[in-house]
Amino acid sequence: MRIAIAGIATESCTFSPLPTRLADFRLMRPGAPEFAALYPFLADYPDVEFLGTLTAKAMPGGPVEAAAYSAIKDEILEKIAALLPLNGIYLDMHGAMHVLGMQDAEGDFYAALRALVGADCLLAASYDLHGNVSERIMAHLNIITGYRTAPHIDYLQTRARAVALLTRCLRDNIRPRKAFVKIPLGLPGEKTSTEWEPGKSIYAAIPAEIDGKRVLDATLQVGYVWADEPRMTACAIALGQDEAAIAAAAARLAQGFWQRRADFRFGVEALSVDDCINRALAAEAQPVLISDSGDNPTAGGVGDISYFLERALALNPPNLLYASIADAAAVKICQAAGSGTEVSLELGGKLDTANGCALPVRGIVETLKADEMNPQAVLKIGGIRVILTAKRTAFHRRQQFLELNLLPEAQRIIAVKIGYLVPELKAMAKEAYLALSPGAVNQDITALPFHQIQRPCYPFDAAMEWSPTVQMY
Ligand SMILES: [Zn+2]
Repeated sequence: MRIAIAGIATESCTFSPLPTRLADFRLMRPGAPEFAALYPFLADYPDVEFLGTLTAKAMPGGPVEAAAYSAIKDEILEKIAALLPLNGIYLDMHGAMHVLGMQDAEGDFYAALRALVGADCLLAASYDLHGNVSERIMAHLNIITGYRTAPHIDYLQTRARAVALLTRCLRDNIRPRKAFVKIPLGLPGEKTSTEWEPGKSIYAAIPAEIDGKRVLDATLQVGYVWADEPRMTACAIALGQDEAAIAAAAARLAQGFWQRRADFRFGVEALSVDDCINRALAAEAQPVLISDSGDNPTAGGVGDISYFLERALALNPPNLLYASIADAAAVKICQAAGSGTEVSLELGGKLDTANGCALPVRGIVETLKADEMNPQAVLKIGGIRVILTAKRTAFHRRQQFLELNLLPEAQRIIAVKIGYLVPELKAMAKEAYLALSPGAVNQDITALPFHQIQRPCYPFDAAMEWSPTVQMY
């Protein structure tokens, strides 16, 4: 059995002015240790020949430049062509890529693969649960399976499940039928986490729909709302050979999601930036975590908006750590000055000029981190410490703070450009708030300028009625 591996995975915010370039992708090819680390479960299949090509992954960001997409797609197609004949291809995807000048980028990629490999080769993709799935995607993929957790702690299980489904279908000579139900709603990930209701029980219902015979797998996609494309919706998918069973499973999952549409809430209190800081100052235990949600780079935000910092400087808390502002020029100035030196800077507002402007500050360079790829600096302005990074950076791990000589427990308030808290941040937070701040991934989605999405769609058309329509592929 010969199975190729390929992938293009990113999440593109069409409201971001910052394009995703080829250099923003990690290009992982077989032989590299990071490639092997993506797929440790392949060792479970000694009788299968897995043939890696290229797996490209980029942090969520703005739309992908057309030349970057073409370069990745062409390399994959060329390598796949050289490997034919193949029994199957495992595709390591995200599902919410937007390429400049194109709609439904993943659909374009699968169509090109299908044209190359022919009808018999099985195409199996693993998805994030923030993917936007189109009819074209359903027509070309044989297998699609997505995460069942947000925050995404099951990424490895999901990849392994896609490969398990693919090898099983090849061994047992199964070409699964696919039931697809688009659910006309667009909700932010910060409201649809699987750690609290109703996301928790909606996702908990998935395993019960799978019996391994009539229904081989089922997937619910929340979708990615900051993508102004016609395909932007949630959806339910079920795979198997029993058409009636998979249609019923997909319809049930879709209906279950739709019925709870008005119940989705932020997992913590969501307030203005000023209110978050004031509530944190009144808290007894520390640290209090505040999500600067509008500029969250892991949802596609640009990461250089200084609005939160501006409000923090105005409120002047005695001890606040701000992570972070992406500003390569500011990091350079700190490096040139050296630690212990006072510097004057204009922070941020250089990339996302629609939502932010440069903030003049004066502070002392406290720490410098020499990192060839992404040098960083800690600037101390009164009681506020600001982490500056050369590249857009998500501060998700305790170790990232320690590397800058910052002990999380010693901070009264830690503000991070993030939405819902990932496990390590959640573990350190004694209290948490979500700041409704400006940015490309503004949580007030009905205020965003959508033009391409299909209407009616909840919550844009809040009073709409709907019942599931199953499309069979
Ligand atoms: Zn996601």
